[in-house]
Amino acid sequence: MAACLIPAIVLAAVLLHDDYQRSRARLVRDSLDAARALMLAVDGEFRSSERTLHALSTSPSISNRDYAAFHAQSARALVDSNINNITLIDPGGQQLMNTATPFGQPLPKALNISQFESVRTTGRASISNLLVGPVLNRPVVRVVVPVRNGPDFQYLVGVMLPTYFQKLLIERRFGAGRIAVIADASGTVVARTHEIDRFIGKPVAPALLERLNQEDENTFELVSLEGIPVLTAFVRSPTSRWTVAIGTPVDSLTADLWRSLWLLGALAALLLSSALGIAWVMGGRIARSVRTLSASALALGDGQAVAVPALAIREADEVGKAISNASLMLARADEALRGSEARMRGIVLSAMDAIIMVDDNQSIVLFNPAAAAMFGCSVEKAVGLPATRFIPERFHARHHDFVQQQQVHGDNFGEFGVVRTATGKRADGEEFSVEMSYSSLVESGAAYHTFIIRDSTERIRAYEALERSNLDLQQFAFVASHDLKTPLRSIGGFLQIFERNYADKLDEKAQSLIRRASAAVHRLDQLTEDLLSYARVNSEVRPFAPVNCRDMAEEVVHLLDAALRHSRAQVTMGELPEVMGDRTQLVQLLLNLVGNGIKYCRDREPRVHIEAQRDPQGWVFSVADNGIGIDARHHEKIFEVFKRLHTQNEYAGTGIGLAVCRRVVERHGGKIWITSVVGEGSTFHFTIPNIPAERAVL
Ligand code: ADP
Repeated sequence: MAACLIPAIVLAAVLLHDDYQRSRARLVRDSLDAARALMLAVDGEFRSSERTLHALSTSPSISNRDYAAFHAQSARALVDSNINNITLIDPGGQQLMNTATPFGQPLPKALNISQFESVRTTGRASISNLLVGPVLNRPVVRVVVPVRNGPDFQYLVGVMLPTYFQKLLIERRFGAGRIAVIADASGTVVARTHEIDRFIGKPVAPALLERLNQEDENTFELVSLEGIPVLTAFVRSPTSRWTVAIGTPVDSLTADLWRSLWLLGALAALLLSSALGIAWVMGGRIARSVRTLSASALALGDGQAVAVPALAIREADEVGKAISNASLMLARADEALRGSEARMRGIVLSAMDAIIMVDDNQSIVLFNPAAAAMFGCSVEKAVGLPATRFIPERFHARHHDFVQQQQVHGDNFGEFGVVRTATGKRADGEEFSVEMSYSSLVESGAAYHTFIIRDSTERIRAYEALERSNLDLQQFAFVASHDLKTPLRSIGGFLQIFERNYADKLDEKAQSLIRRASAAVHRLDQLTEDLLSYARVNSEVRPFAPVNCRDMAEEVVHLLDAALRHSRAQVTMGELPEVMGDRTQLVQLLLNLVGNGIKYCRDREPRVHIEAQRDPQGWVFSVADNGIGIDARHHEKIFEVFKRLHTQNEYAGTGIGLAVCRRVVERHGGKIWITSVVGEGSTFHFTIPNIPAERAVL
């Protein structure tokens, strides 16, 4: 506020001072003008007196020495003139007549006759200084003109009273405070606006007197006769050498300035004090608000709940509300964080898998109860131990390499779900197989690595057992079907011999029984054959090689030639690629699918179409027929062993064909499925991936 007010006040003061200077200059000009005008008026009075006297000086009454008549004439001339009385003086200084006294009375000699000398020598009118006249006996001014009367030289004198000049001054109506002076050529006061009685006949102020000797007009400051400092403008007449001076008291001149300055000062003081008062009050409010805000911010930083009260300053109040809101949000976030932490803790504590987190130095920072159970070490003991305590020594280097690699590649959230198999070491030194997933995260610049570990001992054991039992089963199926074939063939052979040799000895019923027995043997033979081929899919494996599917499909058509002819079926082919696989098995797959397409057809000539389409992973094959179709609820079931949808009487078969198909496709790393509309046809789809997965061999 002071910063705003002080420049304004200084400016006002400067303007006031400037105004003062201007009015002072104006006053000087005005005073000088007024002094000149007054001087002109005074000189004008002298000239008027001179003219009156000159006119009288040529009066015949003077030359006739008829002074009585001249007295009367002069008296008349005085009417409406500025001359008080007229006197005629002879060259010796004797008054010959004086209008101030009745004619004939004795008259004294004139005083100060030196003035007459100059009139006589110059022959021109002269104006005297103030002097005391012998007749009137009071201060007067004489205007003297020469009178030539034959050889005589007389003087006609007009006596002017100072009161006349006093009247001139008063008529001018100078302001009450201003002092105007009319002084004669010697610098004696003749008329004065103030205290004329006291100063008449006295010299003007010494400073003015001194100036008058140097110049005819100017303005300057001096101390008046009364002792008042005044700014004086003076003018001296070049003709009469009389002086007019007009003084204005300096006090009155500066009074306005001082009044304005005082007013300005008072106003400034008032403004400043009220501004200070307001600033004090506002400052107090701001300080209180800031104190409250900073205390609240510190409390917020400390994690305390903060409710900032309403503050007097609007902006501070807004900040306060924002702090309160932030506190609420923090509280909510804190609660959410606590909830999330509790949930995470719950997960970690109850997880069935071991969870171990290590810091950058590979020291354990988290070890859950499942880890404790798995590694046989209590949580308390484990935390702080190096992670390598639970890894067999020969794998330490590999473990370090792995973690190092993750650190290099991991971003802030690290990598998740890196699954690998490894070997763990329990506290008692026992080694065991594990599967673990890894993730790393960087928190406040420090990296943490989390391992979620599952003991895979049991799983591997079960897998191995299953593997063994599968192998046993395959062995058994193979051996059973293979070994069954020889006695079956023998039974079939014997039945044929029996039928052939004893046909005529057997009645119709016995023959029918033999035929049925032969059919059963044939069917059993088929079944063992099919079972054998099913077992072979996994037992007789050949390495994958490029297979031209077009050639393969044509071979299948050729193999099915008889069936195709018999049922007047047609097999068409779209584009077929080359794939990596086991050709024998793929032929078997296609043979089963195309065979089924021809077989499961009623009331129409079978049409089967084979084609393949590109897929990001490899190829999708489809074998479409126009057969009887399969209800959607059987779409899964038909791929199982011995699962058939029809009786032998409707369609002959063993229910193994599609099971073989699935095995072949799965061995190639693909999958098989069906889409079908009952009564319109079925399409079997299967995929053969680009790189057949070797794991399918396992
Ligand atoms: P099988 O043909 O020897 O009976 P599959 O395993 O080949 O054995 O087929 C199982 C069952 O699926 C068949 O019994 C049949 O009911 C049905 N099926 C298979 N292929 C087709 C097809 N193209 N159209 C209709 N049904 C089919």
